[in-house]
Amino acid sequence: MPRPILATIHTDALAHNLARARRATPDARVWAVVKANAYGHGIERAYAGLRAADGFALLDLDEAQRVRALGWRGPVLLLEGVFEQRDLELCSRLDLWHTVHCEEQIDMLAAHKTNVGQRVFLKMNSGMNRLGFAPQRYRSAWTRLNALPQVDEISLMTHFSDADGAKGVQEQMALFATTTQDLPGERTLGNSAATLRHGAALGGSDWVRPGIAVYGSAPDYPQHSADFWDLQPTMTLAAKIIAVQTLQAGDSVGYGSSFVAPAPMRIGVVACGYADGYPRLCPTGTPVLIDGVRSRTLGRVSMDMIAVDLEPVAQAGFGSTVTLWGRGPNGATLSIDEIAASAGTLGYELMCALAARVPLEVSP
Ligand SMILES: *Cc1c(COP(=O)(O)O)cnc(C)c1O
Repeated sequence: MPRPILATIHTDALAHNLARARRATPDARVWAVVKANAYGHGIERAYAGLRAADGFALLDLDEAQRVRALGWRGPVLLLEGVFEQRDLELCSRLDLWHTVHCEEQIDMLAAHKTNVGQRVFLKMNSGMNRLGFAPQRYRSAWTRLNALPQVDEISLMTHFSDADGAKGVQEQMALFATTTQDLPGERTLGNSAATLRHGAALGGSDWVRPGIAVYGSAPDYPQHSADFWDLQPTMTLAAKIIAVQTLQAGDSVGYGSSFVAPAPMRIGVVACGYADGYPRLCPTGTPVLIDGVRSRTLGRVSMDMIAVDLEPVAQAGFGSTVTLWGRGPNGATLSIDEIAASAGTLGYELMCALAARVPLEVSP
């Protein structure tokens, strides 16, 4: 018997969330962002749920090849562009669109021998200070690109630093609009937070780039929940109870004895630990579903096991199913955002950190 732990990818939820993102900006085309192996879901597994996308955006050339190998003939965008000269050969061969965010990438294009015109997305740094040309250098970069015979079409792009927070997108939008005024070409603005929270303001965006929302996580948790945005969990992590202990008042649980029973109680030991990708930083009280009923973790998370409180679920015992995040057995759900917040992080990190040792299944 394999260890009783399983991650399930829900392709129906991926399709639902993608449609939800599309409704936020009905006039824009949608890149499904599938970087980081589709946020830990696996590109091949997620693909069935994301076919309705207008294109796939990612970082890695290997991932771009995998999307093409799945038979996808539509747009594929490299969000960071190429890293070295020879990457451009693959762009030509696989018809990949690529971001151009620095002079070095323009140099590479100028030296690229090809008769396949490249479609590039010229990125402006509108305040994130990660990638892109500063506003005062943007137009000269455009002019330089426009003069290259290798370049067929130039689209315009920026990325918001605060779409999920109080600052919002207005300032960066205004800077982008002023800088790109009169420049021809399609525009792409907006990650999940910008798309859901500022969809109406993104009117000028021909393409949006939702990632996390497609994977069922609220981009602005805890201000809003996945339920608020009508997003469904796309990944369930569940494991079984492999042991039951009966504690007396004063008995402790796990390494460091950080939880001490205030009264007699039954606890279950779940076959999931930090080596499966469950965050070790989750303290006592982190929510779990036991046979679909909400309960909590007790004590420290160890490498292969977590203790949970069986008191709210009288019938639970050896073999009961514990949902760590995602869909429970009876329609109950537990948002990955809640677990992430308990550990002081984001749903993004948990999805991406699902360990390779966890068996994965796809449910339609
Ligand atoms: C990752 C990424 C996105 C998607 O961001 P989410 O917050 O997951 O929606 C969009 N655009 C760029 C440039 C990115 O790198």
